[in-house]
Amino acid sequence: MLHLFCPDFRCENITDISPEWLRANKVKTIILDVDNTLLPWDASAPTSAHLAWIKKIKSAGLRLILLSNNGGKRLKNICSLVELPAVSWAAKPLPLGFKRALHGLKIKERGEVLVIGDQLITDVLGAKKLGLKVLLVESLSKKEFIITRLTRKIERVVINKLAKKGLMPKGGTK
Ligand SMILES: [Mg+2]
Repeated sequence: MLHLFCPDFRCENITDISPEWLRANKVKTIILDVDNTLLPWDASAPTSAHLAWIKKIKSAGLRLILLSNNGGKRLKNICSLVELPAVSWAAKPLPLGFKRALHGLKIKERGEVLVIGDQLITDVLGAKKLGLKVLLVESLSKKEFIITRLTRKIERVVINKLAKKGLMPKGGTK
């Protein structure tokens, strides 16, 4: 059970991830979490550094799709800022949203997909249940939705258990 919460990779920020590192790890498609991964939970737009990172990844020929448990006008605005498609109201960690993303991009080879997110209980668990590789980033903001604040407490317990068993990957994508 614990292995379902164990990310394959970790780093601090998505901007630390280079196209070269992605290629070396055979990643062709990224399913990217939005809140506290691409931009802070209460922000309306990604920083210029994050916008530049999206541009760099796209220019390198990698495909990206946003996957969010939120939706509505804010997500639509973010999609148009980054010029990316999105699956909204994904209900992570349930598989449906991930499957919609895979289907939307016509992915047949799951081994070429990398899920990136900041939460064990939604992003990592959801990806692992479908056998997808997953990279855990540090949350961009301490401000979070009230339910997320509660699940963070459970996350800390799981992370400590994983770390004690030596299952937590060391950070770094360089
Ligand atoms: Mg998130």
